[in-house]
Amino acid sequence: MSRKITDGLTNQQRYYLRCKNDPDFKKSRNESQKQWRKKNPQKSKDNCKAYYEKNKAKEQERAKIKFQKFKAGGYSDKHRLNQRVNCHKRRIAKECKAPLTTEQWLQILENAGGCCELCGSSEDITIDHIKPIIKGGKHTAKNIQVLCRKCNSSKGAKCG
Ligand SMILES: [Zn+2]
Repeated sequence: MSRKITDGLTNQQRYYLRCKNDPDFKKSRNESQKQWRKKNPQKSKDNCKAYYEKNKAKEQERAKIKFQKFKAGGYSDKHRLNQRVNCHKRRIAKECKAPLTTEQWLQILENAGGCCELCGSSEDITIDHIKPIIKGGKHTAKNIQVLCRKCNSSKGAKCG
């Protein structure tokens, strides 16, 4: 490969300038490259491989950064959790016209004396759906009772 040094530009810079000034040049160049790759698939493959081997560290670093960015941007634990909570909220809003408000829940809790309605424990209090959501129960004050985690989980999906 011979390199002209009259204008002080590298081949890459010259190519970039020419593409900028002449879009057709880029098109025809891309087209001819495509044709060449079609005619010489093995050579093209070898070139790619050779390039990768030569720039392995650089390419791996680039892939790593890309993956980290991807992970941080789209799939952090917090993001996933938020997504799940929002999905749940949307589903409740869609299925139920008058979802349980915080005030209503506090009232129910007060009525129950802050204790589990089955065993009377005041530990690990949870919101329990009398008719489970999975069986068509609604997330409304009428369908809510106070249960401790133990009673709630032993109840499972039975209608209590
Ligand atoms: Zn209980």
